[in-house]
Amino acid sequence: MIPGEFQYFAPTTVDEAVSLLQQHGEDAKLLGGGHSLLPAMKLRLTTPAVLIDVTKISDIKGVSVNGSVTVGGGATYHAVASNDAVRSACGVLADCVAQIGDTQVRNRGTIGGSLAHADPAADLPAVALALGATITAQGPGGARTINADDMFVEMLTTALEPNEIITSVSFPRLGAGAGAAYEKMRQPASRYAIVGVAAYVKLGSDGNVAEARVAVTGAGPKATRQDATEAAITGTNGDDAAIAAATDKAGEDMDYLGDIHASEEYRRAMVKVYTKRALAKAIAQARG
Ligand SMILES: Cc1cc2nc3c(=O)[nH]c(=O)nc-3n(C[C@H](O)[C@H](O)[C@H](O)COP(=O)(O)OP(=O)(O)OC[C@H]3O[C@@H](n4cnc5c(N)ncnc54)[C@H](O)[C@@H]3O)c2cc1C
Repeated sequence: MIPGEFQYFAPTTVDEAVSLLQQHGEDAKLLGGGHSLLPAMKLRLTTPAVLIDVTKISDIKGVSVNGSVTVGGGATYHAVASNDAVRSACGVLADCVAQIGDTQVRNRGTIGGSLAHADPAADLPAVALALGATITAQGPGGARTINADDMFVEMLTTALEPNEIITSVSFPRLGAGAGAAYEKMRQPASRYAIVGVAAYVKLGSDGNVAEARVAVTGAGPKATRQDATEAAITGTNGDDAAIAAATDKAGEDMDYLGDIHASEEYRRAMVKVYTKRALAKAIAQARG
């Protein structure tokens, strides 16, 4: 299929991109790697009259590791997955993006595009939730930060305003006593998550789980924190029995989606299987 006609702009600064968004209003869409937007345009699911390509804005393509891991909204998955400093400071982030799609997708797809698109089967939203990432968005009024917990509103809908651009995303460094893992059942052709679970744990000085964050993607309309699982594992010694008890609570109070790849019932079952794997791996990592 051929997309509808559109005007193309390639700004080189964030200010220029924001001003183009303001100028063209609802007719305009930002273009990142194009791996979600262009297929949707070819299917005429969306027909923006104006595309504003953000991939020429060098300021939003960087990856830096200091007190935290800061990734530009325009950084590609490959730039993150291949960064040794990211792998050592926040291995789960590098692991997650290394599992997205194939080489072509990882070379073009961007961190900002993934979070802004909020595909129900996208991997990164679960990791952003489990790590408590902070998203920085710039609009006409300046920059603001959005906590990952507030970002994913419903299927393909986020807390971003239409005239905002994701300029960077900040993830924590995983220090001593912390561990995090992302485990997914992937759709064999696209590698989208049929079910994906990200888990983060922090151990206290007594060796017990002091803090836990668990998030599921792929199973329902949007990536979702697992409050009951988090509460069940917190305060325990994180042994097999504790993991099993916490896993038992996974997927409660969640909406499920069924499609040609997996039924709702199957996804419900897999949420527990992958929660167990992710929690066990995160706890083992936290113990060092
Ligand atoms: C064959 C194939 C396999 C895939 N497999 C996976 C997979 O296994 N896991 C997975 O998670 N994803 C997968 N994807 C999706 C891929 O990760 C996309 O790259 C991603 O969903 C969108 O990122 P993008 O940079 O391509 O954004 P685009 O497609 O360019 O844009 C998507 C949306 O985000 C907006 N946008 C883009 N950049 C910004 C920004 N900086 N600020 C604000 N809004 C922005 C656009 O306006 C648009 O609405 C796959 C895609 C394909 C084609």
